[in-house]
Amino acid sequence: MILGVLKEPSPETRVSLHPEAVKNLVAAGNKVQIEKGAGEASFLSDELYKEAGAEIHERSAVLESSEMIFQIMPLSESERKGLTEGKFVIGVYQPLVAKELMTEVASQGITLFSMDSIPRITRAQSMDVLSSMSTVAGYKAVLLAASQLPRFFPMLMTAAGTIAPAKVLVIGAGVAGLQAVATAKRLGAVVEAFDTRPSVKEQVESLGGKFVEVPGAVEDKAAGGYAVEQSEEYKKKQSEMLEKSIVKSDVVITTALIPGRKAPILITKGMLQQMKPGAVVVDLAAANGGNCEGTVNEQTVVVEGVTIIGSSTLPSTMPEDATKMYSKNVQNFLKLLLKEDKINLNFEDEIIKGTCITHEGSIVYQPLLK
Ligand code: NAD
Repeated sequence: MILGVLKEPSPETRVSLHPEAVKNLVAAGNKVQIEKGAGEASFLSDELYKEAGAEIHERSAVLESSEMIFQIMPLSESERKGLTEGKFVIGVYQPLVAKELMTEVASQGITLFSMDSIPRITRAQSMDVLSSMSTVAGYKAVLLAASQLPRFFPMLMTAAGTIAPAKVLVIGAGVAGLQAVATAKRLGAVVEAFDTRPSVKEQVESLGGKFVEVPGAVEDKAAGGYAVEQSEEYKKKQSEMLEKSIVKSDVVITTALIPGRKAPILITKGMLQQMKPGAVVVDLAAANGGNCEGTVNEQTVVVEGVTIIGSSTLPSTMPEDATKMYSKNVQNFLKLLLKEDKINLNFEDEIIKGTCITHEGSIVYQPLLK
């Protein structure tokens, strides 16, 4: 199989395949073509790719002659339209919010795999890009907060007096939230966390955080571990109880998402007014509308004396490790998708089936067919 890796459009700094992955794919009999400079922003030179057995080409040549094309960000409209029927494309397309685009991709006869659709099942953990990129985002969110906060995170006992530790609240204890709890603890903060899924209490506590309890949440096993919409009565109770934690916190990291919906607003203007001046909110739900009133995606704003950092592209700020993790996920997925150097489209496999969005002229992704 001829595999082609493209340079990502700026400001994306990651790249789909690391030289380590290239080495294995070449050893299995594949030809790997890398766009000139594709790894530069991840500190991976063309030389490293050549040593791994890849060929370096101009972008147009990679697009034209590769059977399977890798780019994390969706291809531009003109490049996608230039692809010939039968090509395979692997990237991150958010199919649930891009139905029109998926219809066009299908009509071109392209087989598209969207890595953000890898099923959240145990067997697919090593391919789960949402988890690995959330790990990066949760970690980096705490570092951003620490560098913006006008005070220390840890407790310090110095000749110049005793400094109390910072109080950090993490709202949404999924993959990003749990990484934020762990990172804030390592920096010495006193950490609380809240989630509408009470089953994460144990995980928060095992990382040294205190779980904020709001009784009465509905957890739906059929939602595959994801949060579900709560009743108005619960939301009111949640808001009252969370407010107490929010207003005493120096830092609040928010990651609360409900699949397919706008992110819930959990920090209101009224709560911001009561927070300490200089406090910091890092809103990782910014791209989905944000969990905080006043959040602007990809911007840092000050509202009522509180700095709000809205960010949804934190993995790009740590390209070296983010690329290693993304590439490892893709490499593990390719172990299912390729048999040696041949495509092995086994739709009996729920991971292949769940990740394939378009094939042979149709949308085949179940959530888009409902
Ligand atoms: P996510 O990014 O979809 O959401 C982040 C968190 O926000 C979730 O924990 C969610 O419960 C929480 N949340 C939603 N609304 C909220 C509200 N109003 N208030 C407070 N919290 C709210 O979550 P994620 O990190 O992608 O993880 C989702 C699920 O998938 C988890 O159960 C996780 O354990 C599971 N998971 C499974 C695998 C696997 O088995 N391969 C891998 C990763 C995650």
